[in-house]
Amino acid sequence: MGFLDNLSDSIANTTRDISKMAQNAGDMTKLQYDKKVKEGELSKLYERLGRKYYQEHSDEDSEIIKEIKAANLRIEEIAKDIMLLKGGKACPRCGTLVKNGAKFCSACGEKVDDIFED
Ligand SMILES: [Zn+2]
Repeated sequence: MGFLDNLSDSIANTTRDISKMAQNAGDMTKLQYDKKVKEGELSKLYERLGRKYYQEHSDEDSEIIKEIKAANLRIEEIAKDIMLLKGGKACPRCGTLVKNGAKFCSACGEKVDDIFED
């Protein structure tokens, strides 16, 4: 084989190698994406299982149940602080922000004039 034939083969091989590498990179990206999607689905399933377990075992005296209750209480406190900063309180019936001095909740119509008496 002459020099040009060798060069031609070499270019053809390199092109094939690059094409293969690009395909592998594409496959890798797709596999990594598919893995992330499945991991996300799995996390949601674990979360659903955890919520279901919590609902059925919320009277248990275990550390994780206590931690969840404490976190829920803290979230409620923070939500109240946010309502206060916005100039109101949560409607006792539906939780919507009721502005200071309002007599009724604008969302559900609950009479709320007494929640500001303190
Ligand atoms: Zn309401």
